[in-house]
Amino acid sequence: MAFLITSDCIACGACKDACPTQAISEGDPAYLIDPDKCVECVGYYDEQQCAAVCPVDACQPDSAHPRK
Ligand code: SF4
Ligand code: SF4
Repeated sequence: MAFLITSDCIACGACKDACPTQAISEGDPAYLIDPDKCVECVGYYDEQQCAAVCPVDACQPDSAHPRK
C-alpha cells in the first residue's frame, strides 16, 4: 500500500528529500504523498524512507491505497 502523511506533520520537509520517487509534495499545513507515485520504497530501500526520517512519526501505511 502507499503511505500517507497524518496531521501530526510539522512540515519539516525531511521526507520530501528522502523519497526516491518524488511522491511527496509540500502541502498546507501538512505534506502530502501522491499514492500513485509512492512505491513504499520497494526496489530502492529496505524500509520506507519517509517513515524513517520523519521526526514525529507522521508517515503511516495508507490502507485505502493498496500497492498495485
Ligand atoms: S514510502 Fe517511500 S516511495 Fe512512498 S512516499 Fe515514502 S519515501 Fe516515497
Ligand atoms: S518528515 Fe514528517 S514532519 Fe517532516 S514534512 Fe515529512 S511527514 Fe511532515
